[in-house]
Amino acid sequence: VWDVFGQDIALGHLVTAFEKDSLHHAYLFSGPQQIGKKLMAINLAQALNCESENAPCGDCDSCRRIESLIHADVCLIDMQSFDDEPDNRKVIKTEEIKDIQPFIHLPPFEGKMKVIIIDGVEMFSAHAANRLLKNLEEPPLKVTFILLAEVKESVLPTILSRCQHIEFKRTPYDKLASWLCEQEEVELSTAKLVSHLSGGRPGWALSALKQDDFLSSYIEQRDRLLHLFNADRSERFGYAEKMAVKFSSDRFLVMDELKCWKTLARDVLFMKYGLEDKIINCDALDKLHELAERCHPSNISNILGAIEETEYQLHRNVSPRLALESLMLGLECLQRISIKL
Ligand SMILES: [Zn+2]
Repeated sequence: VWDVFGQDIALGHLVTAFEKDSLHHAYLFSGPQQIGKKLMAINLAQALNCESENAPCGDCDSCRRIESLIHADVCLIDMQSFDDEPDNRKVIKTEEIKDIQPFIHLPPFEGKMKVIIIDGVEMFSAHAANRLLKNLEEPPLKVTFILLAEVKESVLPTILSRCQHIEFKRTPYDKLASWLCEQEEVELSTAKLVSHLSGGRPGWALSALKQDDFLSSYIEQRDRLLHLFNADRSERFGYAEKMAVKFSSDRFLVMDELKCWKTLARDVLFMKYGLEDKIINCDALDKLHELAERCHPSNISNILGAIEETEYQLHRNVSPRLALESLMLGLECLQRISIKL
């Protein structure tokens, strides 16, 4: 069973090649995170090693072992594979590629084909990339490489030229929402919101739905920010102060909050231009409509600019309180307009 959802073109290509026994020895799957690249790579590894006639069956010993990543002939390298410095890893180093050399050059141990899946191929150091390139240029028998990257352009051209490239695309919101309803017992409205929030990435959407409080805390945050669009100056400054304090203990939380501000401002802009299908917060159309009614597109563009400026300043270690207070002042242009009208 091929488990990947929403990647009909990529899947069609791989299934045809698999059935004709004409699979390439190296693939590059490109596309955003949690869109289905790794799942497809595991599926392909299962297909190549499955013991059943309907490969990949998902049920035989081999398929199960590959799914659990304990099959001796399937190796996954990603940023989580190494314990040394898990949080600030930026590169895959030469030693790590060196480590897979014996694996590559020995015949399959328990299956039919060795499969090496490398997630984050854009993170290769130059030395590691050269070492991998040698393998791709002179591919050992019975080895398939599956490289995963977010964007094709970030992969070294020499590596790219040795691979068959397959692009993974975002799933249309409605299609994804219906699928989510089938997978999890959720209301269509919930599935729609998650589908929009995921940006069309099934893996992201599914894991968000599986987290108990993800959606409720998102909606709570979003409504709090919507309220601040209408709040008076002292309430907004109180908010800025609270966020500035939080920033010192959890900067990611504040950055996430700014991201939510940005999404809301964009939604108001889409509403203004009648592009409702592009709106992320599709469960809050009334409130967005109300905001859009009373502001000019240039006000919203200014707010978007102010949020981006705040993000930039926070990255540059400007006093968080100053940065957030000026953002709160930026929101006032909405109120001035409403008074004028
Ligand atoms: Zn199987």
